[in-house]
Amino acid sequence: MQKKAVGILLALFFLLQGTWAIEIKKVEPAFWWAGMKNTELQIMIYGQDIANSDISITSGTAKIKEIVRLENKNYLLLYLDVANAKPEVFDIVLTQGKKKKSIAYEIKERTTDPAERIGFNAGDVLYLIMPDRFSNGDTDNDVIKGMRETKVDRGNPSARHGGDFKGLSNHLDYITDLGATAVWLNPVLENDMEHGSYHGYATTDYYNVDRRFGTNEEFIQLIEKAHGKGLKVVMDMIFNHCGSSHFFFTDYPSSDWFNFPDKYIQTSYKTSAQYDKYVSKKDSDKAIDGWFVESMPDLNQRNRHVKKYLIQNSIWWIEYAKLDGIRQDTHPYADFDAMSDWCKEVLNEYPDFNIVGETWLGNNVGISYWQKDSKLSYPKNSYLPSVMDFPLMDIMVSAFDEETTDWGQGFSKVHDYLTQDIVYPDPMNLLIFLDNHDTSRFNKNEKDAKNSSRYKQALAFLLTTRGIAELYYGSEILMYADKANGDGGLRADFPGGWIGDPTNAFTASERTKEQNEIFEYTKKLLNWRKGNQVIAKGTLKHFVPVNGVYIYERSYNGKTVVVILNGSNQEKTLETKDFREILVGKKKDIISDTQIDLEANTLVINARGAYILE
Ligand code: CA
Repeated sequence: MQKKAVGILLALFFLLQGTWAIEIKKVEPAFWWAGMKNTELQIMIYGQDIANSDISITSGTAKIKEIVRLENKNYLLLYLDVANAKPEVFDIVLTQGKKKKSIAYEIKERTTDPAERIGFNAGDVLYLIMPDRFSNGDTDNDVIKGMRETKVDRGNPSARHGGDFKGLSNHLDYITDLGATAVWLNPVLENDMEHGSYHGYATTDYYNVDRRFGTNEEFIQLIEKAHGKGLKVVMDMIFNHCGSSHFFFTDYPSSDWFNFPDKYIQTSYKTSAQYDKYVSKKDSDKAIDGWFVESMPDLNQRNRHVKKYLIQNSIWWIEYAKLDGIRQDTHPYADFDAMSDWCKEVLNEYPDFNIVGETWLGNNVGISYWQKDSKLSYPKNSYLPSVMDFPLMDIMVSAFDEETTDWGQGFSKVHDYLTQDIVYPDPMNLLIFLDNHDTSRFNKNEKDAKNSSRYKQALAFLLTTRGIAELYYGSEILMYADKANGDGGLRADFPGGWIGDPTNAFTASERTKEQNEIFEYTKKLLNWRKGNQVIAKGTLKHFVPVNGVYIYERSYNGKTVVVILNGSNQEKTLETKDFREILVGKKKDIISDTQIDLEANTLVINARGAYILE
């Protein structure tokens, strides 16, 4: 009898303990490192009614600096002074009367030197991949029970298709063989959204990758493997907004965590408001604080806790995953000063790192405003090292079709645009591209894809002019797509990425003759470009296009590369004496592997032809 009574009492005790226990759902970041330059660590603790807890830590080296209780009782922000923190595991202890909860927290030892995070630069070619659409290496993770999007459907361009880290890992050799030196992955963080989760731009967890791609550990392994093959990895981040299924949105920490929290206002997408001298408050608020779309609520980076959370998040990923760069989504849609602080903090921890902001504006004046040290933004400074050259993309999309005239068409547009590089503080740190996941592919339709000289010439230019080149996956096998047919189609599956695909374009023998021609051409130029200091660091000198021909020289340390492009549908004969400033001696044409005598009086260039001479 007595034994039974004790048992009942014990059961009752555990039951009550359970009822009374302090329940913690999230601790972010889950761990940190000793010896970081920024000495303040924000730890966000999320759990039912925890805000009234008393809080203490058992660390001998980290000190509590500030405890912040937000409007929402489910959040506690603990700010620690980690200036003298040593690697250790300590307890964060929450107590509410007799209730007590200990959270083990680790300050880790740093395993790499921050100087090893050297970023990407003009010596690199970034191969942009949408992870859901490249290769499915593990069908077991296609659907994860409990996540909101409940199926894969390759027949639906807007559904998940099942690509993952395993698939990427299986094909890293394909990317290095092609000659790219870096991969930029569209977002990999969790997107537990009901629809459209495949593209990854509605983050629902800033500290965990989407389980349909794999685990955080598998992401780290993928990056280690890529590094082992000499490939850098650029991570896509989104600080302007999160997904509406994020716990920040389903359980607001405070009424100022988001912009326009009460009534949905969509951004005007007119981010010129950031630098428009004449902007009205209404237009500025709408552009910067309006939401990107209804499923992507706009984070208020002016709230110091939000800003700190986001800054720490990217530092955590750089340190944890040993990233080589960040691509920041919708950069001009967020608060200028907060994004500036973010860049400053990241570059303070990793001085040689690189960040490129998605500055999708229609002109170089607007884009240059966003580049670090811009005179146009002075006395403000974005501290954003790299910006995206969207106007050059717009020009390239038509320039390679047009008959070059002395004014306004074809390469005259290219030349004229480059003459305006004075607006950019650092033109070599512009990301340049023919297309990306949000635009029509450069080869928009079958007709374009069949016009190999157009794409070959565009590649010859892209890979030899100033800037960091980006190639969108599948361009090398002539994948084509028109944005008019929807975004999903711009992100088609790479053929052969799925078991049972009718053809496997990862393998030369299964590519068409035309695909192999472009693949081999791309491979030749990329491998020539790899490690080429003249392209990575060289100055640029160009000539006004004459008779449809555009000529320029890259030069570095006594070495030169001369590029000659025929922007016309007719064969042209160049009078070499007009270009003696750069046309001297005999040079090897990289494209045809032949010697070209520049001392001869004339040089014939095929219609839409290109020479890359060194
Ligand atoms: Ca999968």
